[in-house]
Amino acid sequence: MSRLIVVSNRVSLPDEHGSPPPGGLAVALNAALRRKGGLWMGWSSKVKAEEEPSALTEKEFGGITYALTDLSQKDLEGYYYGFANQVLWPIFHNRADLAEYSEARASAYYRVNGLFADRLEQVLRKDDVIWVHDYQLIPLAEKLQQRGHKNRIGFFLHTPWPPADILFTLPNYDTLLRGLLCYDLVGFHTENDRNNFAECLRRQRLGDVNGDDFRPYGKEFRCGVFPISIDTAGFASLAEGDDDPQDSYCRLAGFDIAIGVDRLDYSKGIENRIVAFSRFLQSNKHRRQKTLLLQITPKSREKIPAYQAMQKDVAELVGRVDGELGTVGWVPVHYINQSLGQPELARLYRRARVGLVTPLRDGMNLVAKEYVAAQDHRNPGVLVLSRFAGAASELDEAILVNPYDGEDMARAIETALDMPRDERIRRWTPMMERLREHDVYRWCDDFLSNLDPPRGLPVSLDVVSPVAG
Ligand code: UDP
Repeated sequence: MSRLIVVSNRVSLPDEHGSPPPGGLAVALNAALRRKGGLWMGWSSKVKAEEEPSALTEKEFGGITYALTDLSQKDLEGYYYGFANQVLWPIFHNRADLAEYSEARASAYYRVNGLFADRLEQVLRKDDVIWVHDYQLIPLAEKLQQRGHKNRIGFFLHTPWPPADILFTLPNYDTLLRGLLCYDLVGFHTENDRNNFAECLRRQRLGDVNGDDFRPYGKEFRCGVFPISIDTAGFASLAEGDDDPQDSYCRLAGFDIAIGVDRLDYSKGIENRIVAFSRFLQSNKHRRQKTLLLQITPKSREKIPAYQAMQKDVAELVGRVDGELGTVGWVPVHYINQSLGQPELARLYRRARVGLVTPLRDGMNLVAKEYVAAQDHRNPGVLVLSRFAGAASELDEAILVNPYDGEDMARAIETALDMPRDERIRRWTPMMERLREHDVYRWCDDFLSNLDPPRGLPVSLDVVSPVAG
């Protein structure tokens, strides 16, 4: 059996007892690595002042090797904060207007991917299978091939893939596309992402997905749809625990709660949601004093100006709504600008009658799946879900909304709160069944068995035939 190597920007190191950190992805990848006796490589989260950071540091836990590289401050600024988070992230979330491209950032991105390849070479064996994660590391396969490595290599994109006209706003987008053609398998969350990618290849005359418009040459590669999921059973059992015995949430007792849980990010539609919630309260006076929005929003990417501006804007908006509508005994929007642990989140999801998951654009959105998994089967809450979250293609029994349309969202909150129990159960049951069947372990197995198929496994994915160009 070949060894599995996972490469991601950050590595989820286990705690001092050897347990992986909370979060389905870390748990599932650790499980896959343990099965295959693998290695996980990535950035150590340490910044070195020198230009050329030191060699890999290796740590062993439970049969898995964690191989960590430091990065210099300059590389981190250009590759991570610069190109990955201020160019690719906005473009992949349809916000080309926020992309701050510079040649220096692009060259840092490609240089650091080369550095990852150099570091990986130190530990790579001929028959290792490599699984690369996310937009920070698209060029890694090409960099390894340039160094003469021919390992089977797959890539999974955790963000959406944008429509061609949006990708094409990126200077030298062609280099990025060609980089993806160096993988054996490329995975997306949804059909929509895969179709956008296929359209980019077609328009750029780089290849045709399952078509014969172009003359194929060289190696073929495949792309497919692998919707990521959560540890459904694990999350459900977190939520089933008794309520906090000291009831830290006693101030929430008696209120109908709508919950929002999102990193502070412009893709999440937090401001649109708060405005919609205040509109809902304005047109449903009988719901005032009884209903509140619990918005949990850990800070993220605080060094980036767009995120700093948002930090201020959301806090001001919350203050305005609470000031205008609140009373001495009732604060309509409870805003927590900190990160909560998964057990606490699970209990809060279960308490909330409405899960408001309304990103403007999102690769998958695991919060939507966690909200469903946390519900009490006898009396589930209602998921209000953006059509533009990847999760909408699987969780279509939710109330699907347009997050740009405040009226639509306000109506959805009203419908959710009025929904009879029978209908809530009727909507929730198939979603939960689907999540139980397609959990994060299944996602991991599906991707890996397509990347490194056992002999005889039918190849079911789209074959992309690149053409000379
Ligand atoms: N999360 C958390 N604590 C918080 C807020 C969020 O642990 O205070 C977790 C949440 O449970 C989920 C993840 O962060 O597992 C967010 O994933 P999602 O796909 O929804 O969004 P992303 O942040 O990856 O864009």
